[in-house]
Amino acid sequence: MENEERKPGLTAMSMSRHQLEALRRSTVLVVAGADAALSLIELLAEGGVGRIILVQQGEKKCGRFQAVTSSDTSLEIRSYNEAEGVNALEGLLAEVDLVVETFLDWQIKLGLSDLAMRLGKALIHSGVVGHRYQIYFIKPGKSACLRCALPGVGIEDFPLGAVAPHPIKAVETWAGSLMALDAIKYLADLGVIQTTTLWRIDPLSGDIEAVRNLASVKDCPDCGLPFKSH
Ligand SMILES: [Zn+2]
Repeated sequence: MENEERKPGLTAMSMSRHQLEALRRSTVLVVAGADAALSLIELLAEGGVGRIILVQQGEKKCGRFQAVTSSDTSLEIRSYNEAEGVNALEGLLAEVDLVVETFLDWQIKLGLSDLAMRLGKALIHSGVVGHRYQIYFIKPGKSACLRCALPGVGIEDFPLGAVAPHPIKAVETWAGSLMALDAIKYLADLGVIQTTTLWRIDPLSGDIEAVRNLASVKDCPDCGLPFKSH
């Protein structure tokens, strides 16, 4: 459990004007592969995030994302040339408050984690591992980067190519919902974000596991960098 200070929280019925304004002024970059991005974007828009930039991996079906956002949220779709590698996203990361990824390719996930650490940008990672799904809020200066965290959660090897989205849509939606909740809390400065905990759901056993104590590693060239605020 994080020992972070409790932030001013929600009243029973609503967020404060200041918190709503913080959400309205926020920009989130969603790097979409798995279907979790759909519920994520719907809930970010519903939560009042003012601007979402969407970059998609693979087949382009942007209409479904536009269908779940309202006119109160600007959804900008930008192209991403996979051949250029993840560093092509550097300019985009510089203009957003938070990055959320549902990439299907682990090499790109790792590259995005490196980039986010280097730029001091908070990143919410999600990934399908077998039939399980994991979510992890990576905060530069506090959290282990993805390269350091994976061995800690028992992932030493990952597929070289893209993996399939989870076959059960409800699991993708669970992931999208959890990521949206963390994003809204972060952007509106609400409650506590567990920045050293990776959450993992096993939909077959019903277990939801928290892998804790994934703190930044001092001698890592990525997460050991001095903290820079977003
Ligand atoms: Zn690291």
